[in-house]
Amino acid sequence: MAFICVVPVHLPQESLLIPLLEHISSSFHRETRIVFLPIDPSFAYDHSRKQHNSSLLLAKLVDIKPKDALRIVGVTDLDLFIPILTFVFGEAQLSGPASIVSTQRLRNEFYGLPKNDGLLQQRLEKEAIHELGHTFGLVHCRNDLCVMRPSTYVENIDLKPPQLCYSCLKTIDEKLKAIPP
Ligand SMILES: [Zn+2]
Ligand SMILES: [Zn+2]
Repeated sequence: MAFICVVPVHLPQESLLIPLLEHISSSFHRETRIVFLPIDPSFAYDHSRKQHNSSLLLAKLVDIKPKDALRIVGVTDLDLFIPILTFVFGEAQLSGPASIVSTQRLRNEFYGLPKNDGLLQQRLEKEAIHELGHTFGLVHCRNDLCVMRPSTYVENIDLKPPQLCYSCLKTIDEKLKAIPP
């Protein structure tokens, strides 16, 4: 049975994962499991930027993805970047197997605001669905009421809902129909 694999990669706050699993499985109608895989992310650390290279971690996730997993999403508290951007909330392979999301800049504390675990959970769920959406072939959506709307700032994440719009849902249903459960 092809499942969606959620892998913590340096994530001290593992309690975030259980509600996340439910949100992912109800969004994509696929079994979703947490799988603990030994990943030492230090190889992706960039000393001059003091951040982790998201694309290197993504490549690692592709390497270690369990064979029977349909998709893999890494969840980390490390601050991620790609060379052309100062940071990324996450990254995904378009129509590919792997994605990664970071909680680092989803935390209120990052912006000097009081800790809010409920808000962090919501933001993480939106970003994980967004990145997994890319792995199922979805591109950015212009609909304000769609989780596939791109987010530059955390405020953009707060404005969008945790779900896909009707049009993105239809696209993804077509893709999932072609993949055996
Ligand atoms: Zn995106
Ligand atoms: Zn959409």
